Amino acid sequence: MKNLASVKVIKEILAESGFKFSKSLGQNFLTDESVLEKIVLGAEIDSDTGVIEIGPGFGTLTQRLCMAAKGVVCIEIDKTAIPILESNLSDFDNLTIINDDVLKCDLHAIINEQFKDGRVCLAANLPYYITTPIIMHVLESALPVESLTVMIQKEVAMRIAAPEGTKDYGALSVAVNFYAEPQIITHVPPSAFIPQPKVSSTVIKLTLRDKPPVEVKNEKGYFKIVKAAFGQRRKTLLNALSNSAEIPLGKEEISKVLAKCGIDEKRRGETLSLQEFANIANEIFE
Ligand code: SAM
Repeated sequence: MKNLASVKVIKEILAESGFKFSKSLGQNFLTDESVLEKIVLGAEIDSDTGVIEIGPGFGTLTQRLCMAAKGVVCIEIDKTAIPILESNLSDFDNLTIINDDVLKCDLHAIINEQFKDGRVCLAANLPYYITTPIIMHVLESALPVESLTVMIQKEVAMRIAAPEGTKDYGALSVAVNFYAEPQIITHVPPSAFIPQPKVSSTVIKLTLRDKPPVEVKNEKGYFKIVKAAFGQRRKTLLNALSNSAEIPLGKEEISKVLAKCGIDEKRRGETLSLQEFANIANEIFE
């Protein structure tokens, strides 16, 4: 079987197939075997695990996933990569290849059909141009998956994992942490890819929580507060919340809510914990 992490093998496939990397589809293929191992180990994939992979490309990670998992379903948007993928991975009978946009396909139905019982994980070297939409799409759709182990832009990973009060802490940290517990697995330099991206990357594992870490009466309301607080980062909490069209209270009422929650109205969004956001939201949204 071909070693798809080898630059030499990738170059041979490019020459034989005439495949051209698409920048707009975020095609930076992995060539570092140790990173592939870390993804498989980090995701704790074993012979009882069903895996959903997003963006298999030529199948470099897919190959490792198929060796370790019970079954793998990979979803690739680029139809020109499909025949290459099929040929590269023809040895595996535990693989299903789907040619679709991951944001448009019905992941619930795929999991129900392919992995009726047993644990399901998601693993991917994600295309950077839609990292956040893909992660939020998966988290918000309450898929029955145990974890997402994904390679993403380092800067985005640091924002997701940022503790409150730090400069990287923002709406993304609060949103992801509501659904999942983040863990940095490893950092990866641009030299681990072909073609090399301009930015550094990080493998992050997001383990889905059984229930959110804070009790929220109205989830949409909670996220409206978070969005408003971080939408105008330089403003005080009072000004940021009262300037938001999505919050149905005037400045005076918001001031009273903050006082009731014991939160200084001059604080900024980045200093608030998930619990404090929940306390505010629970006062405003039923
Ligand atoms: N997994 C391969 C690897 O590690 O070498 C390729 C990773 S590359 C960073 C991202 C892959 O995602 C590309 O193959 C790209 O065509 C695919 N992709 C981009 N947008 C996608 C989408 N909306 N749905 C599914 N796949 C997508």
